[in-house]
Amino acid sequence: MAFVTGIKKNGSSWTPQFVSSIDKEVCIGCARCFKSCAYGCLGPYEIEEEDDARMIMQVTNDGNCIGCRACSKACPKGCLTHEPLEA
Ligand code: SF4
Ligand code: SF4
Repeated sequence: MAFVTGIKKNGSSWTPQFVSSIDKEVCIGCARCFKSCAYGCLGPYEIEEEDDARMIMQVTNDGNCIGCRACSKACPKGCLTHEPLEA
């Protein structure tokens, strides 16, 4: 299977890993991923729980993702999943 690839400045190729999901059971809503994304792909979301509500992050604009994985590098909980795009 072939995937979409990019070219680095030095001419070598790389395979973007586009964001696909955030594990809402693990996310603590710290927003580190949100702050690290320069492409506006993520946004906060409030979920209701039994007696409470809490903020988590969700993928709001995956179409703008460049697959850099900066969000995952910033996340302390390993919540984000990425996938290459089929060419
Ligand atoms: S992979 Fe890069 S562009 Fe995509 S959501 Fe994460 S930080 Fe943003
Ligand atoms: S960095 Fe990780 S734990 Fe923090 S809001 Fe983003 S996905 Fe959730």
